[in-house]
Amino acid sequence: MIESFISVLENYQKYYRAREANKDVEKLITMAIPREISRKLSLSNDQYTTNGSVGMGNTTITPWISIFDKDITESAQQGFYIVFLFRGDMSGFYLSINQGTTYIGKKFKGRKPKNKMRSVATFLRENLDLPLSDFPLETIDLVSHTTNAKNYEAANICAKFYDLERGFSEEMIIDDISKALTGLADIKKFIGNRSLNKVLNDIIYEDQISDTKFQEDILISKSSTTPNEPQRPTEKTVGGVTKSKYIRNPAVAKEALENAEFTCQINKEHKTFESAVTGENFVEAHHLIPFNKQDNFEHSLDVPGNIIALCPNCHRCIHHGTKQEKKRILKTIYISRKNMLFNFGLHVDLDDIFSFYF
Ligand SMILES: [Zn+2]
Ligand SMILES: [Zn+2]
Repeated sequence: MIESFISVLENYQKYYRAREANKDVEKLITMAIPREISRKLSLSNDQYTTNGSVGMGNTTITPWISIFDKDITESAQQGFYIVFLFRGDMSGFYLSINQGTTYIGKKFKGRKPKNKMRSVATFLRENLDLPLSDFPLETIDLVSHTTNAKNYEAANICAKFYDLERGFSEEMIIDDISKALTGLADIKKFIGNRSLNKVLNDIIYEDQISDTKFQEDILISKSSTTPNEPQRPTEKTVGGVTKSKYIRNPAVAKEALENAEFTCQINKEHKTFESAVTGENFVEAHHLIPFNKQDNFEHSLDVPGNIIALCPNCHRCIHHGTKQEKKRILKTIYISRKNMLFNFGLHVDLDDIFSFYF
């Protein structure tokens, strides 16, 4: 098998330039390597499909060989799968845990679908126990400008690169495929009984759904009394299919809203309406240093110093505004919050804040 991979790297460009001249390379990709992968890993045909392609119609400069789990993937267009992606310059190839791009590509057509593919990948890396130490690459470069190559790059969840010059062994590849298969099995568990499109929607809207719940919980919550000093992060919850994670405490957010006297901290004049639950001017809570960055900090991010009261308009802007608008709001908040953040042991400058958002 290893000779086959090397032969592809050494001969594919010749094949690409003169398609008829060398059918052997095509056979390696579409038949020999897929077959050997199935055999060496004893992949059951009932469960897995292994195939390779040099492009549909036109020959591609970035051929691929993929392994599908039939339960969660029928084609490279939909679902999650493992794929060897050869670089256009044939300097090496990646083994990538990847996602189909058709659904997101269509749904967000003309609205930056690749950003959504990247956010699905980020979500899976952050929430599942994927084998990231073996597949550390969040971004890959296929040295090609074709639409397909760009989609594969955006859809990459995690990957490893095999460099022709540095060399690689057959054992290494076999071992890596089985590790990638455990990652794929975790994704399968996470999907559960849901349809693939539902899973993608659940992931894409996860932040907004959980934030809506959080704001509701704050309304009905009592407020806490947090000492004005650095706090330890609270315990993580025990995870199931997903990793264990930190939970925001609505009582701390309520405390922050009370401290702000239920006014928008961008501008106190931003009057909204009287909340039916609290009887106060309706405002929402937002963690200035995003709560999902907790692992980067020694001290808790779930403290009044890091939670700001915003009118719904300013809050939506921080999540949905243009880069320029977001920066304007973040800068205003940071300047007024700098000392408070320091009191709670959160040492960040404005550029750090920007880096969490962009
Ligand atoms: Zn928010
Ligand atoms: Zn406001």
